[in-house]
Amino acid sequence: MASIRNLYGLSVEELSEALSPLEPRPFTARQIAAHLYARRLLDFDRMTDLPAKLRAELARSFTIQLPSPAETLVSRDGTTRYVLSLPSAGSVEAVFIPSGKRATLCISSQSGCALGCTFCMTGTLGLLRHLSSGEIAGQVALLMDLHRLRPNCFNIVFMGMGEPLHNYQALKAALRLLCDRRTGFGISPGHITVSTAGLAPAIEKLAAEEIVPRLAVSLNATTDEARSRIMPINKSYPILSLMEACGKFLREAGQRLTLEYVMLSGVNDSREDLPRLARLASSLPARVNLIPFNATPELPFQPSPMEQVRRFRDGLLKRGVRASIRASRGPDIRAACGQLSFGAPGDGAAGTGRGESAAGKNRRASDPPEAAMERAAAGELVAR
Ligand code: SF4
Repeated sequence: MASIRNLYGLSVEELSEALSPLEPRPFTARQIAAHLYARRLLDFDRMTDLPAKLRAELARSFTIQLPSPAETLVSRDGTTRYVLSLPSAGSVEAVFIPSGKRATLCISSQSGCALGCTFCMTGTLGLLRHLSSGEIAGQVALLMDLHRLRPNCFNIVFMGMGEPLHNYQALKAALRLLCDRRTGFGISPGHITVSTAGLAPAIEKLAAEEIVPRLAVSLNATTDEARSRIMPINKSYPILSLMEACGKFLREAGQRLTLEYVMLSGVNDSREDLPRLARLASSLPARVNLIPFNATPELPFQPSPMEQVRRFRDGLLKRGVRASIRASRGPDIRAACGQLSFGAPGDGAAGTGRGESAAGKNRRASDPPEAAMERAAAGELVAR
């Protein structure tokens, strides 16, 4: 039996097309979009301004589903980590990060991730599946409701599970939905940051889109040799091609770009790394975000001493590069950068090493990091 189509996640135009056999007036699509996204009416029966006959037909033909919380963990610092059940199958994680001025919602674009960065717990899961635009926007709607947030009073960062540019079409559709005033979200692209491990062709493609968010590029090393060791994607898109794509993004999109640098002791924090990092950042130019690594027993890395992190920040500032150290949020609940892998602190499911975690057993045989790299090199990852 064919599955019933989920309306949540469709744009106003897509709703109009989907509804046309039942209701040809475009106004109805706008009405339903407002009910779904602005009023969060997730039951056709509650859309009482629609004729009863149409509501019954809609209920027979379509469904309305978005992610729902399966587990909630609250950190000492107020950061809240949600494991969310996805409507069709599987789970994903999203994190609410409170702040005095403006909260941040850390949103996932995939369940797991194919790119296999060796310092990241999500990478140990492999790619479980891509999220749909509705599952991406649904995380935002859910966190807005749970934390009583109004649009544009928070930032969104795509720094949860997954490589957003590997799920390009769904990301693009979700951005369109989140930035559309008619949906009630109406979020400014300047309040959205997409983080990428460096899919260079997709960065260039994003620069030419109608809606261009801010970009955070995980650089994390200053030589191809070191970067390829911790980020296999570098074998397909080495630093030079990544910098060219970043330059193009800055020239064409006019949106902010930040270089992210997770500081790993003995890996990327040497005396020689500092001037190289300064040169790379100056060549764009881009701001550098230094991220203290959140150590986890399953991964073979240690954080650089804070003294060294501060030395990097001061050295960058001295060389004219804007730089800051990102505060780690929610490390006690494994909600900090690179720690999302469905595991609660101290439980066995938090991952027992690459390829051995409970969820890691679900890694699609067709999607080991090497296969993803090959497909990325062939342009498949950005052409979906
Ligand atoms: S750092 Fe990002 S791209 Fe790399 S494995 Fe983790 S989630 Fe994927």
